[in-house]
Amino acid sequence: QAKQAGRARYSFYQPDMDAALAARLEMERELAEAIRSGQLVLHYQPILDARSGTISSVEALVRWQHPVRGLLYPGTFIPVAEDSGQIREIGAWTLEAACQQLARWKTMGRHPGSIAVNLSASHFRDARLIDQLSELIRAYGVGKGELTIELTESTVMSDSETSMQTIQALRGLGLSLAVDDFGTGYSSLAYLKLLRPQKLKVDRSFVRDLPDDPDDCVLVRAVLGLAEALDIDVVAEGVETEAQRDFLLAANCNQQQGYLFARPMPAEELSGRLRTWP
Ligand code: C2E
Ligand code: MG
Ligand code: MG
Ligand code: MG
Repeated sequence: QAKQAGRARYSFYQPDMDAALAARLEMERELAEAIRSGQLVLHYQPILDARSGTISSVEALVRWQHPVRGLLYPGTFIPVAEDSGQIREIGAWTLEAACQQLARWKTMGRHPGSIAVNLSASHFRDARLIDQLSELIRAYGVGKGELTIELTESTVMSDSETSMQTIQALRGLGLSLAVDDFGTGYSSLAYLKLLRPQKLKVDRSFVRDLPDDPDDCVLVRAVLGLAEALDIDVVAEGVETEAQRDFLLAANCNQQQGYLFARPMPAEELSGRLRTWP
């Protein structure tokens, strides 16, 4: 009977598994083509000083202009790319496209402050990363502090010796470091002290229920206090309402990012809103 049930289950699930696998392989193939033929695009979301309303930096967020499925968001293809290893190619493309855009804006007399690029864990651990970055910095004339690398806690915390060396090398190149999605991973205070990132980005899940959820209010204030003690800037992610903005401003968190201010958008759309430079 068990055998029968097993067989029944087998015949029931097998086609689904095949279909899922086939879909994945198809996406990998399409993604390779997308990287080759320029279907990836970057959108930019400003990070503002919410008190003055001025843009202090921008975050580059990758999208895939799929020929059939339309504009795809990273949640649909980054996990696949992480499994297949294509994430390093995407990362290399993203870094170059962001540096190129920075140079373009500077030529136009516009300056975004700093461009932040998200880096995956496997690309962070790639031995070629530092050479890639120093080449880009040279080729596009990226100034000190003009490029920020966003890493999640789990990325920097794992294999801490090697990652400290990579972090030092990034610093040496004049890059800034931001810890993304702060609060969702395992942070250790000691590690934060050692790492000294320029920025912590408080994850959107802690911002969502402000100011109604007393726990989140306490947590966000605690992060702000901690960051201030360590002289680290804080950015609140996912600010969607005026009540969230005002709570954060009252708590002295001026740097904010979210739909309340602007959604991620193509570079051309953002150009006119950037500060003039120099
Ligand atoms: P993230 O780095 O935490 O980026 C913030 C995400 O929150 C973005 O989603 C952004 O569009 C979204 N967001 C911004 N403001 C709001 C808001 O007010 N409300 C809500 N609900 N969402 C908001 P997106 O563009 O879909 O990116 C998702 C994640 O994909 C990013 O999270 C990042 O981890 C990853 N990602 C994006 N671009 C890249 C890339 O070039 N390389 C790598 N490795 N990962 C990337
Ligand atoms: Mg980010
Ligand atoms: Mg984030
Ligand atoms: Mg996030």
